[in-house]
Formats: sequence, C-alpha cells, structure tokens
Amino acid sequence: MSTTSNIRLLLLFWFTCCSQLVSAEKTARSDELAALAVTTHFADAKEALAAMVRFPTVANGKSANDQLVAFKDFKRWLNAKCQELNLSYHDYGQTLVVAIGQGPSKLGLITHADVQPANPAMWQQNPFQLDEQTEPGRWYARGSEDDKGPIAAALYALKTLQDNLKQVERVELIIYLAEESDWSALKVYAKEYPQAPINLALDSEFPVVTAEKGWGNLTLGFHASPVTSTADTTRPDIQLIRGGAFSSQIPEQALAVAQSLSPQQKQLIQSRLRQMESHNTVSFTFTDSDELSYITVVGRSAHSSKPHEGINALSHLVHALAIIDWQPSPESALVNFIHNQFALGFNAEAFGTVAFNHPFMGSLTFSPTLLNYQNEQLTLTMNLRIPLGKELATLEQEIRAELSHWQTQTEYPLEIQDLTLSEPYHLPHAPQVQTLLDLYARQMQQSDAAPVAIGGATNARLFPNTVGFGPSFPGEVYSGHSEHEFITAANFRRMLKLYTSAIYELSQHE
Ligand SMILES: [Zn+2]
Repeated sequence: MSTTSNIRLLLLFWFTCCSQLVSAEKTARSDELAALAVTTHFADAKEALAAMVRFPTVANGKSANDQLVAFKDFKRWLNAKCQELNLSYHDYGQTLVVAIGQGPSKLGLITHADVQPANPAMWQQNPFQLDEQTEPGRWYARGSEDDKGPIAAALYALKTLQDNLKQVERVELIIYLAEESDWSALKVYAKEYPQAPINLALDSEFPVVTAEKGWGNLTLGFHASPVTSTADTTRPDIQLIRGGAFSSQIPEQALAVAQSLSPQQKQLIQSRLRQMESHNTVSFTFTDSDELSYITVVGRSAHSSKPHEGINALSHLVHALAIIDWQPSPESALVNFIHNQFALGFNAEAFGTVAFNHPFMGSLTFSPTLLNYQNEQLTLTMNLRIPLGKELATLEQEIRAELSHWQTQTEYPLEIQDLTLSEPYHLPHAPQVQTLLDLYARQMQQSDAAPVAIGGATNARLFPNTVGFGPSFPGEVYSGHSEHEFITAANFRRMLKLYTSAIYELSQHE
C-alpha cells in the first residue's frame, strides 16, 4: 500500500468519525428540541387545535372553499396566530403558507384545513368543539386527526426551532383548503411556485408512508322503471332506501321503507338482522306503521380507505332485504346489485375479475358508500382504492364488463354517471426515509420501524419527493372521516415531538 493510499485511508477514517460525531450531536440536539417543544408548547398547541376545530371548514359543493365564511374566519385566525408566534404567513387563496427562515425552502410540510361533514346526531357533543369529557385522554372533534391536529403540532414545532436555533433555514407549512373536495388549486400552486426538494405529507401514518393506493369512484343511476306485470303487484315493494353520508366514508346508517310485507316476510327480515346483530356490532330497528315498515341499520363508520375498520350499514341492510322477492323497481334492482356484486365484502370478491392484491400495498378495496336520491332518482356511489399491479385501462375494462354482465342477467339498464380511477403512488427511495425511520425508532423505542403503504390518497403526489409522516400510529384505528374522530392527548404529544425532530433533522444545519 502506498503512502498516498495510507493518507487517503486516514482521511477517510477521520471523516467517518467526524461525521458520526456530527450525527450523534445532531441526534442529541434533535431530541433536546423535541422535548423542549413539548414542555414549552404542548398546552399552546392543544389550544390552537381547539381553536381550529371550531371553524366548520366543510365544502358546500357550490362556491370555492376560500369564499365561505368558515374558511375566511379560519384564515383570519391563522394570520393572527402567525403574527403572535412570529411566523411568516402568506395567503394564495386556496393555499396558505406558514414559514420560518429565509432563502429557498429546504422542506415542505403538506397539510389541509378543510374537513369532511359531521352528523351532530352521531356525536356525544358538538363535533366542532374539542370534547375532552366523553372519554378521558381522548379529544373528540371533526378535524382533530384529519388534519388540524398535525397543523397545530407543526405550528409549534416551527415555533420551537425558530426560538432556539441561531440561524434558521426556510421550512414551509403548506395548508390547503380543499383537500377533501377539489385538488385543482393545489395542483396549480405546486406547479407555479418553487417547492422544497423534499416534503412530508402530515396527513397519513407513522412511521413513514412510501406508497398510497389510487382513488377511484363509480356512480350508478338506477333510473329505469322495470315493466311490472299484474302478478308483480302482489309482491311487497321497497318505497325508499338510503344510506351513507359521503363517498369516502363507510356508511354508519342505512334506512329502508317497505310496503305490504306479510308477517312471515317481516319475520324473515328481522331474523336475518338479528343474526347479523349477534355476529358483529350492527344494530337495527324495525317498526311498522299502517302498511309501511321502517328498517334502519346502524353499523360503524370508517375512512373508506380502511373498510375493514368499519361495518358497512348499507351492505348489511341490503343483506337482510335480499331475502325477499320484491316487486321490480329501481330500489329492488339496487338491492340485487349490491347483494350480488358486494355481499358483505369490500375486496371486490364478487365483482367479476376486478379483485387483485399487491404484496406491499395490499388488496384493492371497493365499497358501496353513498346511496341517495338526486332529482328523485336513485344513485349509488362506490369508492375504490387501487394498489399497484394492474393497469388502470384493464381495471376499467373489467369493471365495465361486469356492469354489462349484471345488466344482461337482470335486464335492468344502469346509467354509469361516473367512473374515475387514479394511479397509485409509490416512492420507495425518497432521500428522507431513513432519517425519519431512525428518529421514529429512537423516540418511539421501536427498533423494527419500516415503511408502510396506505389505502388513503393524500396530496403527497403533487409535490417533489413526498412521503407521509403521521398523524396516525401503527396498530391504532384511524378515526378521520368517521363520526367518532378523535386524537389522544398522548399521540398529540408524540406527534409534536416527532414533527419537531423531523423538521430539524431534515432542514437545519446547526
Ligand atoms: Zn386528510
């Protein structure tokens, strides 16, 4: 070995030791700042969350969200909060940017301040007020987990870094106002303005999400009136059927009104409902009034990307109704459709050749989520979550083929109002993944932390090198989009720590 190579080796050795030293120092500093964020700002962050959930930032389907009063009030509050915290605030209409530091952005944090609607009847307290009473340690409110909790934690993580570092690199907290309804304004924002080279979507799961299923929607109109022969009129009739609240929620409630059921038929329906009640947690009511029977089923709502965490009230109601030979009508055609194509499943097991599975991303999910009357015509919306492993064109073809097959079999024409399928997102080699896994493993004392895939589709795909980082913790039920959304005090504290460390380690030099 030559002298030059010896020197090279020595240099390499020195450099490796040094960088490890720097890295050990950085780790210690990171943990110190994380602890500081909690001791100094936990109460402030909680107060900010309580303030944010009071704005009912729900789309109305007519005007752009930033034109609605709740969103204007939210902006006013955020602007004042940023002034108080000495963070910069910029309003781009549907996108708000809160930042620390100068120069080009080193890191972006992607969040959203709009929420799904909430049905107050299904909440113990006002869904737009942080409820600490109902269960100790849990804070219930619409948006507590999705996605105002992460915004509150990120605000105070930024504040901690700003107050405790001598020189601060620029970090942008991007708060979009229409994630739940319309991504178009964020697409424009992400293209028109310079973005950080790496980003975190604070809208999914820990420890780090590197793959998201694609989102899909199928809406069918059951409009045609079947030809009724005279014999048909002796059969009972479904007068009305409804279920679900919005397309990305597994329905918590479903209702049917039936006419002219015989006592035996009533018994049949009730015994099937009772069977389901004893097997899982659906509950039901069956009441008679004159000729009419009112049947309601209550299941458990969940985010439609996690159908296994819910109990679909609509599928269960249909399962009970399908036992009867109904008079032909749009309603009975619909009962036949849901029963035959889904039964009680959510992996397209009965939907022709549509079902498939990806080893890392899991199975395709397909759930009936919303059933209502539009202009007095019955409409069914179904939500899909698509993993890698099948071309979208093939999937579309398979769905259409199965719809044709059902129509031929039943001689009932469907109107396909919408069939939208979007690509899954997969980013296995993002540069920040190892740093995030290391800090998560350290702070959560979980040595086997590994990247995960989720069923939800976040705004991650619109920004460069974006992976998901919280707020939901592995092994815990995700409550966003359900009618019992909450965040625990313990997880909120963990989140504040993890966000402070992650932002520090991925963007700051000191
Ligand atoms: Zn969200």
